[in-house]
Amino acid sequence: MKSPSAFRALRIDWFKLGGREQNIKDYIALANQLIWKRQGSFFAAAVLAAIYFDALIIFAFYAVVVVTEVLDVLLGHQSKTWDGKDPVRGRRIFIRIAINTILSALAISAFIISIAHQETSTGHFTSLFFLFSASVFASMYNSQMLIILVLRLSIYGCAFLYIALLDVVRYLPPLSSLIWLQFWTIVFVLYFIADISLKFYLNYQRQQKHMSLIEEENEVTKAALEVKSRFLAIVSHELRTPLTSIVGSLELLKSEKFGALPDNLKPVLNIAARNSERLTSLVEDLLDLQKLEAGEMQLYFKTIDANTLAQEAVEAVSGYASKVGVEVTTSLCDEGCHISGDRSRLIQVMNNLLSNALKFSEDGGAVHVQVERLEDKVRISVKDKGIGIPQGSEDAVFGKFSQVDASDIRKVGGTGLGLNISKQIIERHGARIDYISKLGVGSVFFIEFDRVTGEDGSDAAPQTA
Ligand code: ADP
Repeated sequence: MKSPSAFRALRIDWFKLGGREQNIKDYIALANQLIWKRQGSFFAAAVLAAIYFDALIIFAFYAVVVVTEVLDVLLGHQSKTWDGKDPVRGRRIFIRIAINTILSALAISAFIISIAHQETSTGHFTSLFFLFSASVFASMYNSQMLIILVLRLSIYGCAFLYIALLDVVRYLPPLSSLIWLQFWTIVFVLYFIADISLKFYLNYQRQQKHMSLIEEENEVTKAALEVKSRFLAIVSHELRTPLTSIVGSLELLKSEKFGALPDNLKPVLNIAARNSERLTSLVEDLLDLQKLEAGEMQLYFKTIDANTLAQEAVEAVSGYASKVGVEVTTSLCDEGCHISGDRSRLIQVMNNLLSNALKFSEDGGAVHVQVERLEDKVRISVKDKGIGIPQGSEDAVFGKFSQVDASDIRKVGGTGLGLNISKQIIERHGARIDYISKLGVGSVFFIEFDRVTGEDGSDAAPQTA
């Protein structure tokens, strides 16, 4: 004798047979999406049939179909809150779907059989075509759950055979009669419906497999990105401390506080200092990038005078400007150019725009910084007469580690991170950064903010930190 556990093992898990949680969710979502399409078809079929057959009977059956549709809608609402995780609720939803399917398929079949009974001529053209449409509809849209599809199609199949046998039983014709030809045609159509249902089902399965493959790959990519990001953060942090002391020590040596330096050592020391500064700025950029990507960059918003911001930024690069022999001029806004932002982060952005403008200018070139008020906006632009940027280079300009001219013969250095970081900082301000440029003529990079005004529309006073 079999033990009770062996019986339990033999019991069919209908829920599993129905498909995964995702299949149930897909099934309900699609059923809800198609509700009006279904209602339209049922109503059109009922009106058409009511014109030619007994309207009372037709609408009585149609009412039963509508009741099963209402049950479907209720099921859709109930399962909306199902997160796909609670298997007990999932099983209950699955059983409700199965019951609804049986009721709905029975109601539709009864509705169509009632038409077949009223069709006096042989052939049952209308009823069979209605049934055919209902079957194709089920094949196309019920492939998420094989068991449900099979349930519905089996009921339709019985209705098909019932209608096919109706005339055979009614007239008991010889095998050579056209009634038998119609019977065999119906059997052929049933095979055709089973075949296309299988095709739709296999297609859905294939699509599901692709989706889960994409999901898996997505997870792997996310994990790899996370590791990369953490690695970058650790390396940058670990590099920053020794670098700060290297830069400090080199500065001390250069200041000759520990005694005069031999002339032949000075250029070597300068190269070392320059390179450690470059390394420091790369590490700073990497840390900023990591902070922005992790959403950990804190911004401290204050009302800032855009004129002061521009002047401070120009002052900060004045040493570099005279070193590369480029004159920086400024034209300020008359009044009411206050913006809301994080002062030190905006200085960082301005520094990046200005140092790029200087870096890509020829010796003897000119850079112009302009602060202007454009209705409810404030724009700060940095204009140079440098090498310019070819059209369609936006991705290279604002991308990560990307440069327009990344060739080995490129004269100026850089990491290709500055503008990407600037763009992210500016976007976190709800502002805009963009550029206009012509190759060989020069570029204008600008940042544009909402103008900050007082409550009565007057100019807001800048807040001090
Ligand atoms: P980088 O460290 O290379 O300067 P950025 O992100 O600041 O990185 O700039 C990205 C690229 O955009 C630069 O490498 C350069 O090709 C282009 N670019 C930026 N500003 C200018 C400019 N004013 N003139 C010409 N090209 C520019």
